[in-house]
Formats: sequence, C-alpha cells, structure tokens
Amino acid sequence: EWIDMREMIETILPRVELQAKKKGLQLKVDIQDNLPLINVDGLRMEQIVTNLLDNALRYTDHGWVGIRIERARSGDLMISIEDSGKGIPEDELPYIFERFYRVEKSRSRDFGGTGLGLAIVKQLVDMQGGTISVFSEVGKGTRFQILFPANQNRDGREEQ
Ligand code: ATP
Ligand code: MG
Repeated sequence: EWIDMREMIETILPRVELQAKKKGLQLKVDIQDNLPLINVDGLRMEQIVTNLLDNALRYTDHGWVGIRIERARSGDLMISIEDSGKGIPEDELPYIFERFYRVEKSRSRDFGGTGLGLAIVKQLVDMQGGTISVFSEVGKGTRFQILFPANQNRDGREEQ
C-alpha cells in the first residue's frame, strides 16, 4: 500500500489539535512538500504516529508538541515526533522500548497507562522495514525519529 504521509497526518490532526488545546500546548506541524510515498500499511502507520503523539501530549506540561516529516538527503523519509516535555533520563533510554517499562515508577503512577505503547510502536516500525530512534534531555524534551529507507520510497509525483 503506497501511503502519502501528509494525507495520513491530516486525518488524525483534528483530534490531536483538540488534545493539545485542552492541555494548553502548541501544536507544530511541519510537513515538507513532495514527500516520497512509502510502502507501508496505513493503519499501522496511524497506530505508530498516534501512540507517539499520545506520549508527547501526556508527558509534556508546557510548551509544544510537534510533527515533522521530511525527505532526508539520503532519500529516506524521516518522521519526527517531538515535544518540549519532561524528557527521559539517559540511563533509562535503552529500556523504553521494552514491554511494561516505564520511566520513574512514581511519575508513571500519575499518568495511567501500561508501558506497552512504545513496545508496540517499535514492533510495528520493525515490521515495516523502518528504524526508530530517540533523543531526549531531561527538562528539555524528547524527539522520536522514524526512518523509512529510500528503497521503500516511491516518488509518486515525479513518476506521474
Ligand atoms: P501506555 O503507552 O501503554 O499507555 P506508557 O505511556 O507508560 O503507557 P510507553 O508509551 O511504552 O508506556 O512509554 C514508556 C515510558 O517512556 C513512559 O512511561 C514514559 O515515562 C516514557 N516516555 C514515553 N514517551 C515520552 C515522552 N515523549 N516524553 C517523556 N517520557 C516519555
Ligand atoms: Mg504511551
């Protein structure tokens, strides 16, 4: 299934905007023009992005949450979900994709959830030939970055 990420994001945007507004957070959306299409399952992509955005909104009290999609120089499609939230301590970063892992038990008690979200995200990204990485700084924010390799891209617009 060839997916245009711009169209996919636009379908979930109204709900995300509402959630951000409720928390008093700014929502930054930056989607490059002429993105390559990617060969992925649309529903799974939606699940990945929704999960990451839910986290970004949940673990951010002030500032903003962002979605950025661009074509990297390498030709890879890069999806970034970023926030200006609490961040994740460096020594916990290696574990956050494990099932049931939650940063700071005390923090988690206040937020509900099960600790499965990122394990599912990682599995879905792997299944579709992508890679996910995370960059975070406590007190500053977090950025999850997903890459889909160029060989999984099709520049639909150029071909037409
Ligand atoms: P669930 O997603 O199952 O409802 P959860 O959000 O606790 O529960 P994960 O989504 O797997 O579980 O996230 C694991 C932990 O990583 C979270 O408990 C949270 O502490 C931390 N985390 C995830 N995303 C962020 C983020 N954007 N900013 C700060 N911490 C985060
Ligand atoms: Mg979660």
